[in-house]
Amino acid sequence: MEPKNKSQFNRRDFLKTGALSGLFLGTAGLASCATNGSQRSYKGRVKNIIFMVSDGMSHGTLQLADLMRRRKEGRASEWIRLYEENKLNRGLMDMTTGSSNVPDSAAAASSWGSGVRITNGSVNMMDDGTALNSVVPIFRDAGRKTGLVTTTRITHATPAGFCASVQSRGMEDEIAQQYLERQPDVLMGGGHVHFDASTRGDGRDLYTKFADTGYKIARKKADLAGIGNGFQKILGIFADHHLPYTLDHVNTPDLLENVPTLAEMTKQAIESLHASGSGFLLQVEGGRVDHAAHGMDASGLVYDQIAFDDAIEEAFKFYEAHPDETLLIITTDHGNANPGLNGVGSGYSDSVPNFDKIQTFKHTNNWVLSEFRDTVPSISQIRERIEYATGIDVSSEHADFLRRALNNERVAAYDMRNRPWATLGEIMSNYISVAFVGTAHTADYVELASAGPGSETLGPFTKNTDLFNLMLSAAGISVSEVTQV
Ligand SMILES: [Zn+2]
Repeated sequence: MEPKNKSQFNRRDFLKTGALSGLFLGTAGLASCATNGSQRSYKGRVKNIIFMVSDGMSHGTLQLADLMRRRKEGRASEWIRLYEENKLNRGLMDMTTGSSNVPDSAAAASSWGSGVRITNGSVNMMDDGTALNSVVPIFRDAGRKTGLVTTTRITHATPAGFCASVQSRGMEDEIAQQYLERQPDVLMGGGHVHFDASTRGDGRDLYTKFADTGYKIARKKADLAGIGNGFQKILGIFADHHLPYTLDHVNTPDLLENVPTLAEMTKQAIESLHASGSGFLLQVEGGRVDHAAHGMDASGLVYDQIAFDDAIEEAFKFYEAHPDETLLIITTDHGNANPGLNGVGSGYSDSVPNFDKIQTFKHTNNWVLSEFRDTVPSISQIRERIEYATGIDVSSEHADFLRRALNNERVAAYDMRNRPWATLGEIMSNYISVAFVGTAHTADYVELASAGPGSETLGPFTKNTDLFNLMLSAAGISVSEVTQV
């Protein structure tokens, strides 16, 4: 049974950053491998960990995706099906960070990645510059393969929180450089601008550097098909910045052909990592759920949550084939904008038929607004564009709210909603019955689902940093040099 009891960590990262301080996790509590029958401990049993994050998923988002799948496809969402069939443990998690009850994604991911509650905006780094070691290098040094998959830039806060350590999440060129040094075996998402010599601040060509260290470079969906069945290090970068929203993705032929879905990337990542035979840690993020929530963009939100749900299906298939040695965690890092299907009509009878209209939408609110960046459109132009994207003929009165918002006029009493995207979100609420409380992260306790050895130790209420300790103890990785505070 792996890993060995002695510490296997090189001190390079710590010495570089002067981070050999703080409390140490002892080896005794983490590395025991009890194997006596029914008392068999989860500790050290887990070979593979799949950690899935729907970024910024409020409880309402989970429900809306499930309702959409039931109405449109005649099936529950995968996440809720697994609840219905009692295949996942369920609880709430407190995602408080070092600076706020309202987390940002960088500090939230860091709470899992390094087990410390740090200041919002930082990635595995204390305010005094102390860098914290994180799970990707820790698992790498313990002989496991590692991977990060997302629909955002791969250098974005959530994947970075499992691997990088920087003072500010905006240092994405540096995060890409740290990926090169720390060598997560699989990297897939967007973020070309942080790897290409012509757009990086330092002019370095990271693609060549990654290729030189054994990575297969994939720039479009077809490149993934060329990757064989065996273990392969992969750098898959499929967009300059974030990958497209799912609804725009599936209705734009060029994007559909060239950009893989989150489920496709997840499947590829699991296959490559598993083929190594070494066990692995894989983080999968549905990152644009968060962006759609910020934008009060209901169709963007629901379809991206469903794309995440498809990725759960891939991960759960793997878990079911390897249940005794796989820990599966499915969660979110914070609520965002708290969407919900609101009651309208006599006996609330209009709510669901209104929501059903989203089934035939072609494009997101984000796509609608992308045309209006430079000039303020007329009321009829606004109505035409919304009708093309959604099939809904909004009233002139509603369209005029958006025209005025685009003209920088004040249209909302709540400051946070006084933005064009919030105004469009509010307009659409009249037709689809999905409304939002705001445009930002919330302090809500979040959904935490899990399966596999160690998941039984998660009770109804979990502190975010406990997942770091669970991952290490489940994998039997003894850490004597991880910086803790
Ligand atoms: Zn966010």
